[in-house]
Amino acid sequence: MKNLLYCFITLLSFQLTAQITVLKPDQVFDGETLHSNWVVLVEGERIKAAGSANDLTIPSDAITIDLTGTTLMPGMIEGHSHILLHPYDETGWNDQVLVESITERVVRATVHAKNTLMAGFTTIRDLGSEGAEYADVGVKKAIEKGIIPGPRMVVAGKAIVATGSYGPKGFAPHVKVPLGAEVADGHDNLIKVVRDQIGKGADVIKVYADYRWGPYGQAMATFTQEELELMVKVANSSGRPVVAHAATEEGMRRATLAGVQTIEHGDGGTKEVFELMAEKGVALCPTIAAGDAISQYRGWQKGSEPEPARIQNKRKSMKMALAAGVPIVAGGDVGVFTHGENSIELELMVEYGMTDLAVLKTVTSGNAKLLALKDVGMITAGKLADLVAVVGNPTEDIKVLRKVKFVMKNGAIYKQ
Ligand SMILES: [Zn+2]
Repeated sequence: MKNLLYCFITLLSFQLTAQITVLKPDQVFDGETLHSNWVVLVEGERIKAAGSANDLTIPSDAITIDLTGTTLMPGMIEGHSHILLHPYDETGWNDQVLVESITERVVRATVHAKNTLMAGFTTIRDLGSEGAEYADVGVKKAIEKGIIPGPRMVVAGKAIVATGSYGPKGFAPHVKVPLGAEVADGHDNLIKVVRDQIGKGADVIKVYADYRWGPYGQAMATFTQEELELMVKVANSSGRPVVAHAATEEGMRRATLAGVQTIEHGDGGTKEVFELMAEKGVALCPTIAAGDAISQYRGWQKGSEPEPARIQNKRKSMKMALAAGVPIVAGGDVGVFTHGENSIELELMVEYGMTDLAVLKTVTSGNAKLLALKDVGMITAGKLADLVAVVGNPTEDIKVLRKVKFVMKNGAIYKQ
């Protein structure tokens, strides 16, 4: 009893004396609006208050961090990453899956995680370990335990693919190679695999609704409507969303009707399918930067040569999606290109028709809302103190997101 009372008093005195940190930038972008003359108060791992310096009571012993010359904003949310992949011009995808050891891939991932955080991305949705089993769950845990610096992670574990549809490819029919995702088909098997992935740590279930399939490599729908609906039903019953890779009209249509949370890529989307997505509230994560990078790996001299068909098509589909009012998630498929250069996707979103302000909202409050991340994405009292300061004003020029001067995650400072 005496001990309990002592604990209580200790706790109380800690509560009374908890250190407040005051962040003083030139301006604050709270996730929706830009405010001048604002300060942000942080206590422990959360934001205590944000508002005009004249209206807030600041304790005399508060620690002040001077961020003159910067805009303070919510930590950015990467909507589509692969922390266990590195750029394909360094090592092709097949060799990353088949030749690199999982140990090497994890060691690389620790560097990727740090670079991502230092670039101001405090949360990532990592959509598939691509042959590295559940290493993403392990990396996530190591970050949560403070062993390595890195962003908060929402992970997919292994993605789910239909028999015959996924790679590595290019082997004789009699040669069996390990795949970059987990195969499952049919009623019982799909239920079992979704549940097994959840049990092993998947926060989201990623499925491939279509893929380049067969000896001629045409992208075609894979799972049937019933199979997709089943996976969504099983995942949702445990509170997890399903996200679908889909680049064909039919794959996108089936995934949308099945009730997935987001569709990744969407290159082959039509006016009709984008209108269906808008109607059903299914978001598109366009991953513009991945296609841009791959086209350059294949020899496109960006800036001096005309845009290849893939890029022209991407511009067209993005325009259609925006015109249809499809909710947009910001996510670049980083890993195909360099971790830490995540904001390339944001620059391309502006280049493809969105305003700087709309993109900034998308990568903060928008992603938080569409991906159901309740604790992040806004600078308001009670949210986790994930805060980033950039030099300049990103609501007018998205490129200043490359100039990250300060990073705080969960109230801890990682860059100053
Ligand atoms: Zn991806």
